[in-house]
Amino acid sequence: MLFEEFGIDKRLLTQLAHQGIKHPTDVQQQAIPIAISGQDLFVQSKTGSGKTLAFLVPLLQRLIKQRALSKRDPRALIITPTRELANQVFSQLRLLIAGSNISATKVLGGDNFNDQIKSLKKDPHIIVGTPGRLADHLKQKSFFLSGLELLIIDEADRIMDLGFKDEIDLINQQADHRLRQTLLFSATLEHSQIDAISRNLLKSPKKVTLSESN
Ligand code: ADP
Ligand code: MG
Repeated sequence: MLFEEFGIDKRLLTQLAHQGIKHPTDVQQQAIPIAISGQDLFVQSKTGSGKTLAFLVPLLQRLIKQRALSKRDPRALIITPTRELANQVFSQLRLLIAGSNISATKVLGGDNFNDQIKSLKKDPHIIVGTPGRLADHLKQKSFFLSGLELLIIDEADRIMDLGFKDEIDLINQQADHRLRQTLLFSATLEHSQIDAISRNLLKSPKKVTLSESN
């Protein structure tokens, strides 16, 4: 199958093609149509299977479709467990939004807090961050989640392993459940807290689970 069969915007297809990406992986084939339809989604598939594009493509399709992108609260928040993973997601995101009017910023633990406040004041459409630092900024009201349309939790199992349950709960509480769609990604299913976090965050989610053999 080809990415163009998802009916996504030409500009997005062009940016993917620039990176040599034409054919979606298994998890992308299954997850992208559900995510584009606006439903909540739980995805489990192994590391390296292509989960990043499984959320970036639906996210960017949604923002591109909104012709008048007003500058206010972030539209989308992508939470990853570590700086390294956030940097990987952000690099891929940057390539995909190159030349568009979509803005994004990183909010990572270890970086300068005041610089982050300045970046957040510019009202980026997309924030990629790590849980602890995001929670610190929310407590200080550096930004608000009242307009959030899409909450993406990447590597939820590792986020729980690292003990970020309280930070995820805070973010969950501050983002309006009626407005938002939530996509949750995990490499494993076995984690003891995955069921609990899914129940807390997701509304009648669709599930895509690919066993190790896939
Ligand atoms: P995961 O998050 O499941 O561990 P990633 O999203 O990091 O996997 O993807 C793993 C690698 O595969 C990355 O280098 C990415 O650029 C590449 N990749 C992802 N989707 C595709 C695709 N459809 N075609 C070609 N390469 C892809
Ligand atoms: Mg990943």
